[in-house]
Amino acid sequence: MDIQRNPTRPVRIGSVTIGAGNPIAVQSMTATPTQNIDATVAQIGALADAGADLVRIAVDSKKDADCLVEIRRQTTANLAVDLQENYRLAEDVAPVVDKIRYNPGHLYHHMRDTPWQEKVRFIAAVAAENDCAIRIGVNCGSVDPAKASGYDRDDSMAPMLESALEHCAFLDDLQFTRYCVSLKDSNPQKVVDLNKRFSSRRSDVPLHLGVTEAGMPPEGITKTRIALEPLIGAGIGDTVRVSLTVANDRKVEEIRAGKTILADIAAGRVRTVVDFGSDSLNIISCPSCSRVENEAFVELAEQVRQVTRYAGQHPLTIAVMGCRVNGPGETDDADLGLWCGPKQVHLKRGSDLVGIFSYDEILLKLKEELDRIISAVAG
Ligand code: SF4
Repeated sequence: MDIQRNPTRPVRIGSVTIGAGNPIAVQSMTATPTQNIDATVAQIGALADAGADLVRIAVDSKKDADCLVEIRRQTTANLAVDLQENYRLAEDVAPVVDKIRYNPGHLYHHMRDTPWQEKVRFIAAVAAENDCAIRIGVNCGSVDPAKASGYDRDDSMAPMLESALEHCAFLDDLQFTRYCVSLKDSNPQKVVDLNKRFSSRRSDVPLHLGVTEAGMPPEGITKTRIALEPLIGAGIGDTVRVSLTVANDRKVEEIRAGKTILADIAAGRVRTVVDFGSDSLNIISCPSCSRVENEAFVELAEQVRQVTRYAGQHPLTIAVMGCRVNGPGETDDADLGLWCGPKQVHLKRGSDLVGIFSYDEILLKLKEELDRIISAVAG
């Protein structure tokens, strides 16, 4: 299939360059605790051996940042760092990574009196000094609150777009142009719409594509395919990630799935678009990362799928998230949400907390709540 790619600008990330017609890069993220250096280096090695062009690592503390220095020493893979609220950690990690990912929606929690512009200026300066690219990573579950408040609550896409465009303009003004953007949602159709709308405004900015919280394979791969086929077919997208909820020893499946989808699109082997989740039970789950505090999370996601099969014909969404960092926000829009702590799981109905339960109790409580929703709808 002859695809006319968008004329994006080149952005070099270590030894790989995205944009400007370069091959679409495939990436993944480690899910091992960053402070477990051996496990993290081994996972990076496995991902690189599977063909990952770039591997992202979460860093939330000074101790994580110190470990990243040693991780860098032990691998030649292209590394990106995922910053959460503490943007100042950029200074510690930039010398040893190739890209810094920040989320505009997370720049608010830390040092609240400091304007976001000052924080981005700091990240851009650190990136420029250390030969790093930047990704502005906008995510449906953590939209910049200042932006979200300016729009109708039902219009989740407008504040995301606005946020991405605003940060692009700001980096451009700083004359920092070595950046890409991602706009991720757990709904594949929204990922298509968001990225089409963004690229119609900024066709010069390379895009990282993916469906967040796509869940377990095979559904997680299918959801990502649904988003990637129309976008890449339209020339949109310079790098991709297939986010899958799988155990650490299966993380390479993200790379294999990404490469398979890209090869299929290039060969014209595109599938009929499935209307995912519109009239059936939709389980979304995060791919896990180093922030997971209990490895039982991946197994729990699988158990949730099994015990809720009886409700397959109900148009409801159940979200299963691996940690307290993104879990509370990213479960708000689901009918039922679970987010995992070290010993307990928080069960939510929409944005309301139903209760906090042990890993042994949670499936029963989830089922009770699901039955309540189904009876209310039927009743
Ligand atoms: S929800 Fe938490 S554990 Fe899951 S991918 Fe996001 S940050 Fe990592």
